Amino acid sequence: MTDFTMDKGADDVAIITWDVPGKSMNVLSLDGAAELNALIDEALADAAVKGIVITSGKKDFAAGMDLNVIAGMKQGGAQAVFDGVMTLHHLLRKIELAGMDPKTKKGGKPIAAALPGTALGIGLELPLATHRIFAAENPKARIGLPEIMVGIFPGAGGTTRLVRKLGAMGAAPFLLEGKLSDPAKAKSAGLIDEVVADPLQAAREWVLKAGDADLVKPWDAKGYKMPGGEPYSPSGFMTFVGASAMVHGKTLGVYPAAKALLSAVYEGAMVPFDTALKIEARWFTNVLMNPSSTAMIRSLFINKEALEKGANRPEAPDQTVRKLGILGAGMMGAGIAHVSAMAGIEVVLIDSTQEAAERGKSYSTGLLDKAISRRKSTEEKKAEVLARITPTTDYAALQGCDLVVEAVFEDPAVKAEVTKRAEAVIPQDAIFATNTSTLPISELAKASARPDQFIGIHFFSPVDKMLLVEIIKGRETGSRAVAKALDFVRQIRKTPIVVNDARFFYANRCIIPYINEGIRMVAEGVSPTLIENAAKMMGMPLGPLQLVDETSIDLGVKIAKATRAAMGDAYPDGAVDHVIFRLADQGRLGRKTKAGFYDYDEAGKRQGFWSGLAAEWPEADTQPELTEIQHRLMFAQSLEAVRALQEGVLEDIREGDVGAILGWGFAPWSGGPFGWLDMLGAPRAVEIAEDLAAKFGPRFAAPQLLKDMATKGESFYGRIGAGNKAA
Ligand code: NAD
Repeated sequence: MTDFTMDKGADDVAIITWDVPGKSMNVLSLDGAAELNALIDEALADAAVKGIVITSGKKDFAAGMDLNVIAGMKQGGAQAVFDGVMTLHHLLRKIELAGMDPKTKKGGKPIAAALPGTALGIGLELPLATHRIFAAENPKARIGLPEIMVGIFPGAGGTTRLVRKLGAMGAAPFLLEGKLSDPAKAKSAGLIDEVVADPLQAAREWVLKAGDADLVKPWDAKGYKMPGGEPYSPSGFMTFVGASAMVHGKTLGVYPAAKALLSAVYEGAMVPFDTALKIEARWFTNVLMNPSSTAMIRSLFINKEALEKGANRPEAPDQTVRKLGILGAGMMGAGIAHVSAMAGIEVVLIDSTQEAAERGKSYSTGLLDKAISRRKSTEEKKAEVLARITPTTDYAALQGCDLVVEAVFEDPAVKAEVTKRAEAVIPQDAIFATNTSTLPISELAKASARPDQFIGIHFFSPVDKMLLVEIIKGRETGSRAVAKALDFVRQIRKTPIVVNDARFFYANRCIIPYINEGIRMVAEGVSPTLIENAAKMMGMPLGPLQLVDETSIDLGVKIAKATRAAMGDAYPDGAVDHVIFRLADQGRLGRKTKAGFYDYDEAGKRQGFWSGLAAEWPEADTQPELTEIQHRLMFAQSLEAVRALQEGVLEDIREGDVGAILGWGFAPWSGGPFGWLDMLGAPRAVEIAEDLAAKFGPRFAAPQLLKDMATKGESFYGRIGAGNKAA
């Protein structure tokens, strides 16, 4: 079983083909790198070989480094990581120098890369080390360096080469934002050299006619000057000062990879190429040894993918959805119809009036028009997608639907009625799902004649943007319903988590205490600016006050009233209600009314805090420590996640972490609440929780599970072992 094979043709060009057995996409492993190394040595040593082309036996070139390998490299410690990275550098540098004489730069063998499709991460770093990159005319192909998205940065020379090729400014979107391009755009950005119908043939022809000068990279030639200027030139100085400020402004210092990347670029730009590679390797090692990168790779890549591939899917035959019924064409129903039609599913979209149903469909029209104006779609595609959505008031149109998703008003009586009406029409074996955000699934299932085929599929708003879908099992939900929901979520390319039925399920259960803690602090006289910044400096995308403005304050009021009614005297959030009821009374319902905790201008753009806020809740003379505010905001969410696990609402911490990041943006650098608590360590987490509980109340009391872990010296991921279920 080999990942790379070499074939020397009659024209004396050695074709090295990358084709990892048993995988649909090539990923580089350490064994694979060793094989490639041996083949390059063989080809360079073979006097008969005139040139080398590296290509792929699959429809794409490569998806990157095997992230499981990267996660594994850490086990050996920093030196092992550094040595591993340097091995890759040596290999790629060998390709780049191609056996040429170090002084005269003559006598090397031309090496080209032929990319049939997508080339990501090391799948681009390897081509960047060759002398010319040919890509196929394949608009679906994605080319780029997405490492930063999982908390690392291109560490196999991609950083150093791209900056020297494009300059710091030109390389910034690719390195700092992980921007991916199709081949045509990659060519115009200077990432690759040629886009052709047959890249293998073109590369073959090129290596045969390339001369010595074609093999010398600009940075290996005399008099090389970095595009845009070195850091100590006037223009370079401006670039680096600006980049530093921009990166810090965006990340507030919580993402170690972005900072390390900038350091590697800055320090690397001031030294010769080979030293720069060593610097890149050191910073890469530094980032890899940071617990944040482990946590991000684990949640955002390994576990996210495992959940998408059905890690928690019960055994059941394929449940692919063919015809979907949606009840309620409001904001959620329209969004669900859109993503489903985009995935090729036939949709019947029902509302109580034809006009409302049509309005739901027109939401899709709007999104598709926008996509066309941005050249992300075409008129044909639009017509195709819209033709799949049938807006109607007629329940008989639900005949033949194998899944129904109900998204009518949040009212049990209305939901019960539509459940019965739909079940009278749909096939006996169809699955019925509700998109309720607050009502217990087991209660709603009472309206169903087939409660084992009744389930919660909880989308987040806006449906077309949010990546997470929460699947909720009611008391009687059967395993085929779970499989159906999971297969549906897979079809619409979102990430599922499966939880048990309990108040607010999982995501809302954790996000509400975060919002409430922020609002409590306002009532206590903590500066709203301090609250919001404390949250952002922990890596939360939105402060709690901005978040409640976005989700709307009247929704908060509604939830508070319903929760109080359900909990009676045990209701703990009176202090919060005082604030939001007061805002709601004044018509300040959040962004939608252009008035909430913040002021908004006519166009709805957020301005500063509402000037009346300080009059209603004056800021105290003495403000708390930043860390204390951060602990309150983070523990409010994380302890709730632990309680959800302890109570069995959550069955798998992987779902708890992935769901937290995708569902409500829980500090992605931490890998999620369980990853974060593991970084703190259970004993320290218990200590902080107990301190907070003594000062602010029992909502911060450490759950028994966490206390037990502290006593036994356990961690969440240690308890379950990598990749296993928690339960
Ligand atoms: P919405 O008010 O925008 O839409 C509800 C739609 O249902 C309306 O178009 C209404 O005409 C229609 N409807 C009402 N009764 C009907 C009936 N008997 N037959 C057919 N259609 C009927 O509400 P929404 O925000 O889309 O929420 C729908 C559901 O999704 C609710 O259960 C809500 O809790 C849940 N949800 C909402 C969000 C959110 O952020 N808005 C997020 C997750 C879940």
